[in-house]
Amino acid sequence: MGNNAGVVIVGAGLGGIRVAESVRSAGYEGSVTLIGAEPHPPYDRPPLSKNVLAGKQERPDLKPAEFFADSSIDLRTGRTVVSVDPQAHSLTVAHTDDPGNTETVAYDTLVLATGLTPRAFPGADESLAGLHTLRTIDDALGLRTEIDGARSAVVIGAGFIGCEVAATLRGYGVPVTLVEPAPTPLAAALGEQIGELVTRLHINNEVDVRAGVGVAEIVSGGEKSGGYGSGDRVTAVKLDDGTELPADIVVVGIGSIPVTGFLDGSGIELADRSVGGGIACDAVGKTSADDVYAVGDVANWLDGEGNPKRVEHWNHVVEQASVVAATITGGESVRGAVPYFWSDQYDVKIQVLGEPRADDDVHIVDDDGKKFLAYYSRDGILTAVVGAGKVAAVMKTRPRLMTETPISELI
Ligand SMILES: Cc1cc2nc3c(=O)[nH]c(=O)nc-3n(C[C@H](O)[C@H](O)[C@H](O)COP(=O)(O)OP(=O)(O)OC[C@H]3O[C@@H](n4cnc5c(N)ncnc54)[C@H](O)[C@@H]3O)c2cc1C
Repeated sequence: MGNNAGVVIVGAGLGGIRVAESVRSAGYEGSVTLIGAEPHPPYDRPPLSKNVLAGKQERPDLKPAEFFADSSIDLRTGRTVVSVDPQAHSLTVAHTDDPGNTETVAYDTLVLATGLTPRAFPGADESLAGLHTLRTIDDALGLRTEIDGARSAVVIGAGFIGCEVAATLRGYGVPVTLVEPAPTPLAAALGEQIGELVTRLHINNEVDVRAGVGVAEIVSGGEKSGGYGSGDRVTAVKLDDGTELPADIVVVGIGSIPVTGFLDGSGIELADRSVGGGIACDAVGKTSADDVYAVGDVANWLDGEGNPKRVEHWNHVVEQASVVAATITGGESVRGAVPYFWSDQYDVKIQVLGEPRADDDVHIVDDDGKKFLAYYSRDGILTAVVGAGKVAAVMKTRPRLMTETPISELI
């Protein structure tokens, strides 16, 4: 590393802060610069749809304020990287709230950790009052301020975030309808059998689950009021079957898109959308450009079999950050042997260990009407365990997932 430009990290979220912290703890002595578009220091996203939305927590900062100075990490918040020049080893950085105000920043090593942006509902006016997506702390706090007095809410999309938002809104007593075009919630991730058990969880908490039907239109109207582009509010959601669901709050949870626009013209390769999109990387996070890495939700790494794969889960981000920091510093990385993620809905923790596919065979081995445990298998071999309220039983399966275990040994 020649000119002291050091390690520059774009994106001050989980992946960004973990890389910064890990290169420092590995003894890296060059400069470390962490550039984040949001005005906030790095914070954790899982609590946003849970405790923050529930009003039990404010900003879930990942580090205390003094950490950055103590670790000699130059944190630059409210700054958006607008372009990258890999030949010159430099970036153009703009003030997020004053895009004309830019500067050039040089790097020796660049790490891209820009995460995702929520997919907007097609055709909807995103400035409508009452219409929300959930990715940032500001999204969560904005949604939270509208809950008091809301007579009804519609959540569009029953993936993990949609399901969690529905559960948290029910905690306030707001009537909630959860709309999902697939046959069940979470069908794409966990298959329909477990999707049915998740449906039951929501129905038992008085959510009106409308699965197998799409949304035709977000309906708006009402008085013009200051502060919003069109002045209009959402009033209802119209389904493909013609049903109109009244709504004071509409939360759209139909997936997210990797944030890669700032790489236009850089020559840094992106992965094809058919394999998840994002920034194309090798198996240790290296991109097509020299000295440029990518981690986290935006990064599409080659998996153990050499296939491109993009994952949007917390533990995965942490592991990738550890691998990239080790590559940069020449150190050892900590890599979990078994993929893991979780989701909290009502008072139930849903945990997923391993790599389930929606078309795997599912074996439900325990179900008391609320908590359940299921094994997944493919070609007779255990691929994953999914539990709801079954923490110990899920974790006990970890060693069996580290070796090739015939499902017949478990059921
Ligand atoms: C509401 C919610 C709940 C979740 N719950 C769970 C859960 O229960 N379990 C689980 O396993 N996972 C959960 N996740 C997923 C987990 O939080 C993510 O996998 C993780 O936050 C991704 O980290 P990241 O660093 O890749 O991206 P992010 O955390 O999104 O950070 C990226 C940062 O980069 C910034 N940025 C983008 N572009 C630029 C640019 N050009 N210049 C500068 N900065 C830029 C963004 O503003 C953002 O702050 C949840 C996510 C959300 C949104």
